[in-house]
Amino acid sequence: MLTVAEQLAEIRSRSLHRSLREIATPQGNEIELVGKRLLNFSSNDYLGLASEPALADAAREALDQYGVGAGASRLVCGTLTPHIQFEKTLAAFKRTEAALTFSSGHAAALGAVQSLVGKHDVIIIDKLAHACLIDASRLSQAVVRVFPHNHLGKLESHLEWARENHPESRVLIITESIFSMDGDHAPLVEIVALKQKYQAYLLVDEAHAVGILGAHGRGLAEKLGVASKIDLQMGTLGKALGVSGGYICASRVMIELLVNRARSFIFSTAVPPMLAAAATAAVNFVASPEGDERRKTLWHNIRHLEKGLRQINPNYPAAASAILPWIVGDEEDALLLARSLFEEGFHIPAIRYPTVAKGSARLRITVNARHTTAQIDALCKALGRLCPMPMEVAED
Ligand SMILES: *Cc1c(COP(=O)(O)O)cnc(C)c1O
Repeated sequence: MLTVAEQLAEIRSRSLHRSLREIATPQGNEIELVGKRLLNFSSNDYLGLASEPALADAAREALDQYGVGAGASRLVCGTLTPHIQFEKTLAAFKRTEAALTFSSGHAAALGAVQSLVGKHDVIIIDKLAHACLIDASRLSQAVVRVFPHNHLGKLESHLEWARENHPESRVLIITESIFSMDGDHAPLVEIVALKQKYQAYLLVDEAHAVGILGAHGRGLAEKLGVASKIDLQMGTLGKALGVSGGYICASRVMIELLVNRARSFIFSTAVPPMLAAAATAAVNFVASPEGDERRKTLWHNIRHLEKGLRQINPNYPAAASAILPWIVGDEEDALLLARSLFEEGFHIPAIRYPTVAKGSARLRITVNARHTTAQIDALCKALGRLCPMPMEVAED
């Protein structure tokens, strides 16, 4: 048996060791790390809402009125007015009958999946789905079938298999809309058609699409016109919405089931009311003309970065989101590139196994609405200098 120290040494020897970095400044595009000022291209605060005054004002007001903590779980006595207001606002924004908040997106995944499927049911999940969706699938004790990333043929053969072998069971398809480490999107129209054909349930995690895609920023499902066909629209309040927490948007009966069954909801303290109030302000911001403008600025920045990356690598794929990965491959090489960029004043940590597959280490570059064109140009210039050769890029 390895000691813990030996285990850590082994992680280090494979260039897979990670550690926490203290940032002394608020979240933003210029941060200060160990006494060094850096341009930040790694956050998920795509619209810059984490530092938006309207959110801070809403939080402060709720803090004055409701105090800091919710004091109990939602079903005991932790459901305060800001929670109800938020869930109503979110459901109206997403055009669903109801919505439910969790302490994190991670908790939302665990609770929702485990509420809907159990031991004798079947989950069919995209290979690149987020770790919380994989953990949720395992915890549910359902039979889990994985299909290769975005592979509709394999998804359908798993659906056929489930119909033959588990005719009485619930079948739940799980995917992300925008994938967190590749920034590409799922073929949602086709997945919805398959879900209907086989009468399966569908959970779509819109963590990296809400606030970014769709005419009103409701996500990829809105953009593709399939939102009303998705049984569970999951998301986080911690990315474009700039706060913290998770949610499920669904029909009234589905939400009622989660309230009664989701262990991560039932056995967990309610989100602080000030965060629920800030999240309401975030959704209102995204839904406002100012939100539309912010989204347009974000897309301008995405296209500008995409253009810059194509000047380094002409084969760089079209960006589908604010995540533009720079695939390096080897873990050690990715660490070296991240270190060189750090020396040049950029914060873009290398993403390695187990977050992505072995040998597909990358810099996960994210861009947001508050980046300036000059900041994006500076990054592309540094990256071009450090990677003069065309790099291998992600498929699709
Ligand atoms: C970040 C993320 C989550 C988890 O959300 P948290 O609120 O951070 O727990 C879930 N799914 C995806 C795709 C994510 O990127």
